[in-house]
Amino acid sequence: MVEGFTGKFTGNFTQQGPIPEDAIAAAVEVMRSGRLHRYNVASGEAGDVALLEQEFAQSVGAKYCLAVASGGYAMSCALRALGVKPGDKVLTNAFTLAPVPGAIASVGAVPVFVGVTEALVIDLEDLAAKADQADVLMLSHMRGHICDMEALMQLCDAHVVRVIEDCAHTMGAAWRGVPSGRFGVMACYSTQTYKHVNSGEGGLLISDDAELMARTVMLSGSYMMFDRHLAVPEPEVFASIKYETPNMSGRMDHLRAAILRPQLARLKDQVEAWNARYGVLEEGLRGTPGLRIVERESDEAYVGSSIQFLLLDWDTAKIGEVLARCAARGVELKWFGGAEPAGYTSRYDSWRYAPSVAMPASDRVLNGVVDMRIPLTFSLEDCALIARIIRAEVGAVWQAG
Ligand SMILES: *Cc1c(COP(=O)(O)O)cnc(C)c1O
Repeated sequence: MVEGFTGKFTGNFTQQGPIPEDAIAAAVEVMRSGRLHRYNVASGEAGDVALLEQEFAQSVGAKYCLAVASGGYAMSCALRALGVKPGDKVLTNAFTLAPVPGAIASVGAVPVFVGVTEALVIDLEDLAAKADQADVLMLSHMRGHICDMEALMQLCDAHVVRVIEDCAHTMGAAWRGVPSGRFGVMACYSTQTYKHVNSGEGGLLISDDAELMARTVMLSGSYMMFDRHLAVPEPEVFASIKYETPNMSGRMDHLRAAILRPQLARLKDQVEAWNARYGVLEEGLRGTPGLRIVERESDEAYVGSSIQFLLLDWDTAKIGEVLARCAARGVELKWFGGAEPAGYTSRYDSWRYAPSVAMPASDRVLNGVVDMRIPLTFSLEDCALIARIIRAEVGAVWQAG
């Protein structure tokens, strides 16, 4: 117990770092050129969007890459490319954020929610039990927690379930040395402000599958200008699909790509900065009575852009008390167990457009998940202070019983 510790944190949980100066300069150059649309390029010029796609593909070792308007668009585009139709079922995580079931709903499909373990990854037993209900799994690496990817792929291959990876929280992460997003047939990333690179809005889609990728390019609104891309399949692949694939515009523009390219080049440093902060928080919280750390697998190279801990089997009123006490000391915690969706947190049963069956084991975990963002504007000292505050408040509520 930390008796008499009354420190208060005054930082801002939604304040990002600035866009790097070279990225700002690149954006200004795009604006001066007047050529903001991705296919508006001077002769001999590739354009920032095509270069971003090429650079991102190289950074994860993918054959193909497409930049789009948002992470959610990337997911719906991937589902369409796979031929998911209205009424089809799509497996997905019960523990994720609203854009994931939303992407499934956007193509008229129906999510089938798969449970979550105490390690905050998809429950492979539950997945095995439900795998025959659908041909596609939209796998959300929610909050950057990566499940045993070999086991998951083995299971999905055995049930002929194709996997789309939602890597909104795992850009820069890896499983046993393989970049997150390289296991499924396609993977989607978000470049929205709260993710690992910041262009306000934006998304990236990768694949090694030529035909699927050609479809996503057409879907994104390439008209017949797919030859201006640098990370797409050969023109022959487009020949067969260009007449039958509708244009559902969702392109990225040069302005966003221009500010993303320098950020992508620095992603490794950012990941280190996040993990240093994560480490301070994790160590600061370890051993707090009543609080369970979500231990990370050694096979997992994660990006600690947020941290979760469990107040497992706590009374909900007591969890509310912890959150209120921490908030009073400037520490903004989010709770995934709330019956009423709030801020960015919601539960599978709050998405009422999608049917759901109660999952008691998952509910037990979700009821205890507390979440905190880690903006890079926090210093290591800030993180140590935050951990002390959480430790003191969790301890105080726990001791009061
Ligand atoms: C943010 C997010 C998305 C969607 O990204 P947008 O770019 O906001 O559309 C998808 N999945 C998860 C888990 C996310 O957090």
